Amino acid sequence: MTRLIFLGAPGAGKGTQAKVLAGLCKIPHISTGDILREAVANQTPLGMKAKSFMDSGELVPDQLVIDLMRERLSQSDAHSGWILDGFPRTVTQAAFLDDLLSEINQLYNYAVNLEVPDEVLIARLLGRGRQDDTEDVIRRRLQVYREQTAPLINFYQTRQKLVSVDGNAPPDEVTADLKNLV
Ligand code: ADP
Repeated sequence: MTRLIFLGAPGAGKGTQAKVLAGLCKIPHISTGDILREAVANQTPLGMKAKSFMDSGELVPDQLVIDLMRERLSQSDAHSGWILDGFPRTVTQAAFLDDLLSEINQLYNYAVNLEVPDEVLIARLLGRGRQDDTEDVIRRRLQVYREQTAPLINFYQTRQKLVSVDGNAPPDEVTADLKNLV
């Protein structure tokens, strides 16, 4: 059973690679960013709470994301495996995920860290043109990543679950490296 957690800075290619690999493995690609953007577009209560945080490059409060993930992982398609993209993003979220998975008797295989140099990240994000990809917001998101998400590298290393993959290689090579893990 394939269950992977994708780590990596904004622009590292998590979303692109997670989608391809999930398609190959025929398991759901669970992206909190996609779920939140859809909630914002549909103006759901979750979306209305999340919007201002997302627009300014801040993280949405842990409790909102935790509640949405508890619900998402309990859906029937998630029983055949999954790739998590953009979650967990804080140590609080990672600790919650460990608790939730032991509660529902699931284990993840690895946390995969896609490594990409900072200057490449900024260039990629500026080229992407998403609504929250303005230069100031990008800088803030990278800062938030370093402060709140990068500590997860150590979190998963301590648990001997961390695998690092060069995210600065051509997309097909990154996919090939990832396929070797599953
Ligand atoms: P990127 O691909 O640039 O890393 P995402 O699409 O994963 O961005 O996320 C976009 C935004 O959604 C984040 O900047 C943040 O505001 C919010 N978000 C997504 N996942 C989480 C999470 N696990 N915890 C808190 N906020 C989140």
